[in-house]
Amino acid sequence: MIIDHDGHMHTYLSFCSHEEQFIPINILKKASQIGIKIVNFTDHVWERGMPGTSDPYKVDQDINHIMQIKKQIPKDTYGVKVLISCETDYLGDGHIGLSKESASMFDFVLAPTNHSLTNYYKDKGITKTKDIAKNLLQRFREVITFDVANGIAHPFLPLGYFDRGDEILNTMEASELRECFYMAKEKNISIELNTDTFATNWNRHTDKFTNDSYMRIYHIAKECNSLFHFASDAHSLADMDLLAKMQPFVDELKIEQNDIHPIFQIQKTV
Ligand SMILES: [Zn+2]
Ligand SMILES: [Zn+2]
Repeated sequence: MIIDHDGHMHTYLSFCSHEEQFIPINILKKASQIGIKIVNFTDHVWERGMPGTSDPYKVDQDINHIMQIKKQIPKDTYGVKVLISCETDYLGDGHIGLSKESASMFDFVLAPTNHSLTNYYKDKGITKTKDIAKNLLQRFREVITFDVANGIAHPFLPLGYFDRGDEILNTMEASELRECFYMAKEKNISIELNTDTFATNWNRHTDKFTNDSYMRIYHIAKECNSLFHFASDAHSLADMDLLAKMQPFVDELKIEQNDIHPIFQIQKTV
């Protein structure tokens, strides 16, 4: 299928976006120009009061902050369907950035498991490749148990460890990956095909993290009949173009409409 939705999109409300013009009206206009029919706005959120961090960078991006987007959605969305969602965070050790009650305020909740890995591994003395792989698998399973996530953002991306990306991902056994994907499928949690996970989209500054190791994982996810969604994870208008660069991988994986999470299926939303 042709990539026709963007399931993971930031705006200028996310502190990590530095482009003032990266706002819904411009995003929706561009989406309509590049053939995107559904845009899922997923700014970073950490619900005030959720334990695990007091870092202002996280806690100031609270629900009130990101819900400002509601006032920014133009009346004319250029024919693009809009979803108001979020990307929360999972810090490990049970610390999730959104409660189950608050999750219901959003159309779709993305949960990543891999922001700030470096500090966590430093604190815990985790250095070995096999232990990092084990922890990434564990985080995936844990984040599913909170019943907060509708989709897993950039699954298993070893942020901070790209110089051994292939090694880490290839250390994960197919059986362990299948266990994760079956757990997600049981709760209708979607696996994200994120532009970040393809080395050809991003300069990783290393030749030790290639597309092949990620394609192995996505092929296993496909064999498990996982639900998927596509994600630019854009932080600027220019980033939105990365989505089309993922098309050859989507073709190779033979992803079809039926493999897509229902909220992003065009025929089910019109
Ligand atoms: Zn993320
Ligand atoms: Zn993101």
